[in-house]
Amino acid sequence: MTERTEIASLGEFGLIDHLTKNFETQQASTIVSVGDDAAVIDHFGKQTVITTDLLLEGVHFDLMYTPLKHLGYKSVVVNLSDVYAMNATPTHITMSIGISNRFSVEALNEFYEGVYAACNKYNIDLIGGDTSASQKGFVISVTAIGEVTPNRFVKRSTAAKGDLICVSGDLGGAFLGLTLLEREKKIYLENPQIQPDLENEDYIVGRLLKPEARRDIIDFFEKNNIVPTAMMDVSDGISSEVLHLCKQSNLGCNLYEEKLPVAEASKSAAFKFGLDPTVCALNGGEDYELIFTLKQDDYDKITLNEEISVIGYMTDLEEGCKFHTKGGNTFDIAAQGWNAFNA
Ligand code: ADP
Ligand code: MG
Repeated sequence: MTERTEIASLGEFGLIDHLTKNFETQQASTIVSVGDDAAVIDHFGKQTVITTDLLLEGVHFDLMYTPLKHLGYKSVVVNLSDVYAMNATPTHITMSIGISNRFSVEALNEFYEGVYAACNKYNIDLIGGDTSASQKGFVISVTAIGEVTPNRFVKRSTAAKGDLICVSGDLGGAFLGLTLLEREKKIYLENPQIQPDLENEDYIVGRLLKPEARRDIIDFFEKNNIVPTAMMDVSDGISSEVLHLCKQSNLGCNLYEEKLPVAEASKSAAFKFGLDPTVCALNGGEDYELIFTLKQDDYDKITLNEEISVIGYMTDLEEGCKFHTKGGNTFDIAAQGWNAFNA
């Protein structure tokens, strides 16, 4: 049996100290970190970006198939993704948790291992948070802070007619990972003798449980002197995100099925589940890719980056938001999205 230390044996302050004492800050801008009423950060003449996300057990994650270390990692990464989506660089996070006595100190250690792995990978300082008892369910709230060169931030509302619509990485994988894990959970609940069959599905399971934020794309923009005209991250499915870009920029768009990037592993998983890979790419959530628009003049600068696909272009508002299938049909893009309220 693994060791189990009751949280009550440490008390709130002992627990916070235990969870944070070994983390060394890495950012020169961190002036005061964990341990005071508030943290202090200096931004040396840059602009500051702040974003926050709430993750609730049973709504955003299922502990039955989500390892705590992955959950810690992901809860940081999804916030960093929002900072990168502003063309900014994340520097700091705060982490607030609500925990029931179902959790042991060892369980929280695992969660924080994931938190610190993400902090180290992305060069982020954890500078504070809050800790509370929760009656039921694990509650996680992360706030991320980032910096951007003055007026280089990129909003959703500033795309122009004729701009290319681009997306990083590939789409639909996380939704297929979720579909697989939910299916295996159901089989397990009906018959606990049957072990989950996750063989050869590492890619889609990884896309769901251990997403990465696209720092590489933001670095690529910087190196190649590219500033997208509009940008956001892909958390709800590309069809929902592209509608946000269009609505907020007052434009329409043309998107092309043949241009949508879908990994081979996702395609074969989709076929196995009897799903259409294109529908998964359009409506699946949690890919944490970036969708952005570029001036056509910048096209040559991105052709060499295999992580970027051009999937369409912006049109006049009157032309609507259109999806062109491989078979030559045209549909209005629907605001499907991945909606936790319908799940
Ligand atoms: P306050 O009473 O002002 O809310 P706390 O006693 O809750 O302060 O927190 C003490 C210090 O520990 C603060 O710097 C706070 O930001 C930090 N902290 C609290 N909980 C966490 C946590 N779960 N992870 C990281 N830092 C935390
Ligand atoms: Mg507190």
